[in-house]
Amino acid sequence: MSIIEVVEELSDVYGVADFSVDEEKLVQMYGEDICKYPYAIAIGHKMLEEIIEKIPLTYSNDDYAQEYLDEYYNSHARVSEIAKKIVERIEQEGYHAIELDVSGDNPKLNLKMPFSNKASANLAGIGWLGKNNLLTTKEFGPRLTWATVLTDAPLGEYAGRPMESLCGDCDICVKACPGKAIVDLPNPKESYSPKKCGEFLMGRKKDGHPVACGMCLYICPFGNEKSKEILQRK
Ligand code: SF4
Ligand code: SF4
Repeated sequence: MSIIEVVEELSDVYGVADFSVDEEKLVQMYGEDICKYPYAIAIGHKMLEEIIEKIPLTYSNDDYAQEYLDEYYNSHARVSEIAKKIVERIEQEGYHAIELDVSGDNPKLNLKMPFSNKASANLAGIGWLGKNNLLTTKEFGPRLTWATVLTDAPLGEYAGRPMESLCGDCDICVKACPGKAIVDLPNPKESYSPKKCGEFLMGRKKDGHPVACGMCLYICPFGNEKSKEILQRK
């Protein structure tokens, strides 16, 4: 199996970004090490559907809320393992590779700040940052966890280009967010307030509930058929 076939087999969604195209900007933000290798493989791993589908019930059922919280972290561990396997496979082919886990870091790299895995997925052309600030794909919406593998394996022929937002005039996550942390603006830096989201979660904690929400992940019509119908009726 070729490297890219292994990536395809292990990931639910994947893409390749050619970092040399955006090198100046990336180095400015993250430091030289982010472009140590020319390509980034963005690896998307699906969170468990049956748990995501129960998110609307988590506000009145702490067991479901805890289950979602556990899946959030378990999916992080799973995608890190996938990234490690891909690194091993690339090294077997005689190339270099290093994985960035969900936190966007690796102790072997000297980064100015943790890398955003959302950025590699966006640069690879497999998703966009929605108004909810989640990396959103056409196929599974934001119901994915991400890791990145940086490599010098020759993957240039698979490299995509940055994807434009497909949110358009959808405001479903804006209306559904219980923390009023999302407003209807196209730029996620302006539409999503981490402060308000954090305040909502801390309020839940203060009231004795698991620190879980995820409504914006559940409700997005990309990945949620019921929401898609609502959007299509608009
Ligand atoms: S996690 Fe909840 S509170 Fe935070 S932005 Fe998403 S829907 Fe809103
Ligand atoms: S719910 Fe609509 S506005 Fe929000 S991220 Fe998804 S497509 Fe974009």
